[in-house]
Amino acid sequence: MSELTRQILKANESFVKQSLSQGGFDEVSKYPSRNLAVLTCMDTRLLSFLEPAMGLVRGEAKLIKVAGNTAFEDFDSVIGSLMVAVYELHVHDIIVMGHDDCGMLKTTADSLCRHMAEEGIDEKAIAAVRPKLEQWANPITDIDASVCDTVRRLRANPYLPSSLTIYGMVIHPHTGEIRVVDDGEGQEQEVL
Ligand SMILES: [Zn+2]
Repeated sequence: MSELTRQILKANESFVKQSLSQGGFDEVSKYPSRNLAVLTCMDTRLLSFLEPAMGLVRGEAKLIKVAGNTAFEDFDSVIGSLMVAVYELHVHDIIVMGHDDCGMLKTTADSLCRHMAEEGIDEKAIAAVRPKLEQWANPITDIDASVCDTVRRLRANPYLPSSLTIYGMVIHPHTGEIRVVDDGEGQEQEVL
């Protein structure tokens, strides 16, 4: 058994033991009780940090995490997840939550392609994905602007209903302070 697997199973054993000794966890619905989905970044510093900073607890919201909290295609796995959240799980509000010092601000198609080449990825494969990487990674140079752009794209997405309210926010990864960059008020105007 690998060291990582061993570590995970060891932690899991004590987690379950402790949980059972306290009578187990309450059963929580899969429907988010606050009808909320949060699209945020995979950044390590947000782990066990973003939710308390937002006042969210287990059962209240859907969390979708991707590098740079982007949704730049009309349909991809992020949009698919949001479609499930909206059409199957009663989500009405979506918060796009970026964070300061996001790694995507410094990540470019060039740097990714260079590192792929160093790891021996096939040249043709790199050439094939480069245009997508340029479209995805290169525009993220300012987190506030990037969050606002994602909010705009979600509002204009042909597969999501205009009844949604979509907000843009940015959290600081050290203090946990959140600033609002789009409070959803532009929604109706933009839809009309
Ligand atoms: Zn990030």
